[in-house]
Amino acid sequence: MASRSIHLMLVATHPSDSFDQAGGTLAHHVALGDRATVVLATTGVRSHHNRLQEERRTAGADLDVEERVKEAAQQKLEETRNACRILGFEDVRDLGFEDDDILVTQDKIEAIAEAIREVKPDILITHQPYEGGGLKMHATIGQCTLYAWQLAMGVGRDKQVRHYVPAIYFMNPMAYMGHNSLAYAGTSHANVYVDITDVIDKKVQAVDYVSSQYYSGAYSRKRAETEDGAHGGRSRVAYSEQFQSFFPMVRYSLPITDSELDLIDEPHEAMMGRRGEIVGGLMPLPPNMVFTSEYRIPKERYSE
Ligand SMILES: [Zn+2]
Repeated sequence: MASRSIHLMLVATHPSDSFDQAGGTLAHHVALGDRATVVLATTGVRSHHNRLQEERRTAGADLDVEERVKEAAQQKLEETRNACRILGFEDVRDLGFEDDDILVTQDKIEAIAEAIREVKPDILITHQPYEGGGLKMHATIGQCTLYAWQLAMGVGRDKQVRHYVPAIYFMNPMAYMGHNSLAYAGTSHANVYVDITDVIDKKVQAVDYVSSQYYSGAYSRKRAETEDGAHGGRSRVAYSEQFQSFFPMVRYSLPITDSELDLIDEPHEAMMGRRGEIVGGLMPLPPNMVFTSEYRIPKERYSE
């Protein structure tokens, strides 16, 4: 652990990526006295405002989407600010790119580099640059962030400040493996897990704010169990977030924690009890929301 407090900067593609993949980890850092800044690359409206998509689907092409975009972007920003506040961080910056502007472009790279120069983070967190086979917006922003990291450490132009970020972590590197036939493990792997069991309730509450994507209620609880809970299962805790360190770590000696040493004498029953803890799934739903099976697909629909 560093002897001074540090500043973490997370570059998210869509607004909710700012907290639903590494938010528990940021909450820990803030509680330890570190600072966290999240930078939203895009407004997320074109691809992740599922309520607006639904309106478009039902109303047809004549629905004036452009008239709604500004308000929808504000809504997503507001959801994100509320969610981040629950987890303890308030510094949410919005670069304002559209999420249908999908390519790695110089303007996105420059904007992220400028944020790095301003924030001067010690740790940069972003998406795995080859996520989903490299052909998705998360990968685009992961790549832009790596290019921006290179620009920020250079001489720069005119009066640009130079800043070198010594540590980079890719968040949720394995989460999308197998989601399509292009997503193979390749360079993706998880080599750091953060045990977020103590803040999983806050994370569920944070995801409850994402009503524009229908994430609030039952889904936020399911998500805690199937995402953070699955990562937890792989790392012998109840809930965790996974990361891939970009650089190999350099240490004076080999790192091992007290919690790892505790495993030597931990009774199996205690270990399984720890791993079996359920928090997210048992949290009460927000008012006016219910668990339901009404959308279940009947088995007849699967006959070919
Ligand atoms: Zn996303």
